[in-house]
Amino acid sequence: MGRPGWRVPPQPVASSTMPLVVQKYGGTSVGDAERMRAVADHVARTRRQGNDVVVVVSAMGKTTDDLLRLAGDVSSVQPPRELDMLLTAGERVSMAVLCMALAELDVEAMSFTGSQAGIITDTSHTRAKILEVRGDRLREALAQGRVPVVAGFQGVSTERDVTTLGRGGSDTTAVALAAALGADACEIYTDVTGVFSADPRIVPRARRLPRVSFEEMLDIAASGGRVLALRSVEFARNHQVPLHVRSSFTWEPGTWVDEEEPSMEQAVVTAVTHDTSEAKVTVVRVPDKPGLAARLFRALADAQINVDTIVQNTSVHGTTDISFTVPKTDLRNSLQVCRDLAGEIGAGEVAADDAIAKVSLVGAGMRSYPGISATMFQTLADRGINIEMISTSTIRITCVVRSDRVEEAVQALHAAFELDS
Ligand code: ADP
Ligand code: ASP
Ligand code: MG
Repeated sequence: MGRPGWRVPPQPVASSTMPLVVQKYGGTSVGDAERMRAVADHVARTRRQGNDVVVVVSAMGKTTDDLLRLAGDVSSVQPPRELDMLLTAGERVSMAVLCMALAELDVEAMSFTGSQAGIITDTSHTRAKILEVRGDRLREALAQGRVPVVAGFQGVSTERDVTTLGRGGSDTTAVALAAALGADACEIYTDVTGVFSADPRIVPRARRLPRVSFEEMLDIAASGGRVLALRSVEFARNHQVPLHVRSSFTWEPGTWVDEEEPSMEQAVVTAVTHDTSEAKVTVVRVPDKPGLAARLFRALADAQINVDTIVQNTSVHGTTDISFTVPKTDLRNSLQVCRDLAGEIGAGEVAADDAIAKVSLVGAGMRSYPGISATMFQTLADRGINIEMISTSTIRITCVVRSDRVEEAVQALHAAFELDS
């Protein structure tokens, strides 16, 4: 995994001797007026305890989904630049309202859009990558004794257009700011008390993990555990920013995500994750000749489509079927690219299936422990859950199953690997 582009070394806030904490509050945490006041209270308390605080906020509640729905209701054509302009409005509301709640508590705060905070990104609208963080205005505000409140999930491109960082991107904003400002801690406040052994909404008996290594968290995030955005974990690992994931409802200590110590006891399976955000594409009867798979996946990559699990069948009569998964949001594009190419290379039809889901086991101990896949496949087989695709990495095994069976699969695997509390 490449080191995210990043040109400016951390410049700690020189004029202050107080520890600096970056606190990120997710959508539910700032979901209504009462929640805003609770967050303001906590920020004020953190200050009273002798810390400088930089706050990063998400859009309130389901605002981002609502704005996306609005866009869909208005038009089937959504230019990415305009989509970004629309979605960044959500975080703008949160930051201004939180500053008002802080003003009432006599905490001097100041809101900043991503652009004002100096978050410079590339030009890929709706999934922009941070290139640089120029945090001067935040440092100035801190030096003046203020609490900067930054709109998460957004930046400004090298072409001076407003961009967004992909769903869940406020986590990435927080980690990038923590790295750039040399913060002492980066706290991710959310609606659960930490990172669990499975999504607690699906497995009520899931356990909170007191500590998770960056390595495992990367695989948990990549395989659907949406509690932290994948990009934010990559950033945290590359810049050695320890994260503390915790609840803004109970404020109790949560999960630390940091570098693993050699002595740390490794569980065989740490978490069971699932992901319903992908769809399967199958290109049938691809001529079995060198270079055709390369052409197919090059064309998809050129269209900025992130292909995940890939399966190629054994060739029969000189052709083979190739299946792969893509984010549902890229499905239309993927079909277009594949259909264009199928014509050129003499392949058959291109089929889409959006009723799939992935279930994964993640655990650093898996690499030195045989038999995990056998137990996983048997557990699914015992429930009559058919496995359609399989992919593995050193610390993860993923199976593609029917989406209407995925919750049952997660629960069964969680029990089979004795993760239930
Ligand atoms: P926020 O708006 O605070 O960013 P998210 O909805 O993005 O919150 O992420 C928190 C949610 O992630 C939880 O409500 C939970 O349902 C879900 N989740 C999925 N997998 C896990 C997991 N392994 N541990 C904790 N939460 C998880
Ligand atoms: N509001 C954005 C989203 O819903 C970013 C975030 O909450 O992290 O994806
Ligand atoms: Mg989130």
